[in-house]
Amino acid sequence: MRQSKLFTKTRKDAPKDEVSKNAELLIRAGYIHKEMAGVYSYLPLGLNVMKKIEDVIRKEMNDVGGIEMKTSVLQSREVWEKTNRWSDDVVDNWFKTKLKNGGEIGLSFTNEEAYSNILKQYVNSYKDLPIFPYDFKEIFRNETRSKSGIMRGREFYWKALYSFSKDEEEHNVFYEKMKVAYRNIFEKVGIGDLTYLTFASGGTFSKFSHEFQAITTAGEDIIYVDEERRVAINKEVYSDEVVRSLGLDKEKLVEKKAVEVGNIFTLGTRFSEPFDLTYKNEKGEGRPVFMGSYGIGLGRLMGTVVELFADDNGIVWPESIAPFKVHLIELVSKDGAEAVKNKSLDLYEKLLGAGVSVLYDDRDLRAGEKFGDADLIGLPWRVTVSDRTLASGLYELKNRKGGEVKMVNETDLFKI
Ligand code: ATP
Ligand code: MG
Repeated sequence: MRQSKLFTKTRKDAPKDEVSKNAELLIRAGYIHKEMAGVYSYLPLGLNVMKKIEDVIRKEMNDVGGIEMKTSVLQSREVWEKTNRWSDDVVDNWFKTKLKNGGEIGLSFTNEEAYSNILKQYVNSYKDLPIFPYDFKEIFRNETRSKSGIMRGREFYWKALYSFSKDEEEHNVFYEKMKVAYRNIFEKVGIGDLTYLTFASGGTFSKFSHEFQAITTAGEDIIYVDEERRVAINKEVYSDEVVRSLGLDKEKLVEKKAVEVGNIFTLGTRFSEPFDLTYKNEKGEGRPVFMGSYGIGLGRLMGTVVELFADDNGIVWPESIAPFKVHLIELVSKDGAEAVKNKSLDLYEKLLGAGVSVLYDDRDLRAGEKFGDADLIGLPWRVTVSDRTLASGLYELKNRKGGEVKMVNETDLFKI
């Protein structure tokens, strides 16, 4: 994309009321726009990153047998009354509204009820199970704390998969597969080394649920990490008894601040029984479906990546989710302007032809401004075309992450 066509511009300052590093940098670099506390619009660059993250997650979900669908945001009161989750005393973060012709509705804050209500229509026999539908969706929560930028939105975008199995045994097989799928996702977006499988409270059907917690001072959770075994315990469930039952050594656990980027949960029959979501087994006997839920917040993940890798000059994207791989900088001097422009355009077209995504800075700005913007926007590779290129045939190549700069010829440039 030509940067002259990108309507967003970088800015020196974020809004005064913005206190989180992730939102501050993303706003300054033109990825997001702050509508109000906890509510952000995604601008072209931000949407590009979200889509990359979505693709990473979608692939892993499809590989474990997930089937994508889309549940509605507007939810009917009757459905939620079945599980007693409509009441404000039970769930206090609903956004609710009224229909003109009467009746209250809610904006979905989660999906269990919607799924059970739909699946009830289609699940009859053991032959229909197991199934693993999922969706990417906007979720609305009237969060009281919203000081973590896109890591805690009042409106946010997530992936939620629900598993519907015949029994606990079948459920457990899938649950373990999801642990691996989640690990793959966090590896691919570049935070694998910093993300720990964390034991948290489980509810009626299992002793624990599992959170994927990424270590960052921007996180709102406290966890106790066993570095060697690469697991952790959430402070909310931490007790000597829990440490013992997991076979961990209290002495080895280190307290860290972390953010929950995803979680997996055994729901059992908590959301199937109220909907009479049952199936007939081989003997024709009715049995409740055994469920699990598996969430990941995409905005939270994006914000976490920004928090973890940004430096003093701006954002540093891992290549897997960067909006473009290459930031091509055209540096024109007075003399060779036309020739440099032609050379840059030629390289831009060759890179696109080779399937490389490029943000082409064809704007009429000084070198310092272009380089400053490139650092702030944070694409993995900066390639500069200047008078020197015309003379030597070499391009200046800079790696955003490590900061190394070298001169390369065109053949080597295409090896990045
Ligand atoms: P938290 O304890 O941090 O509020 P949660 O337990 O409410 O999270 P879930 O309801 O299980 O989280 O949602 C699944 C995933 O959605 C979380 O693991 C997280 O990645 C993401 N998520 C939850 N709340 C938000 C939010 N307000 N903004 C952005 N992402 C969120
Ligand atoms: Mg929450």
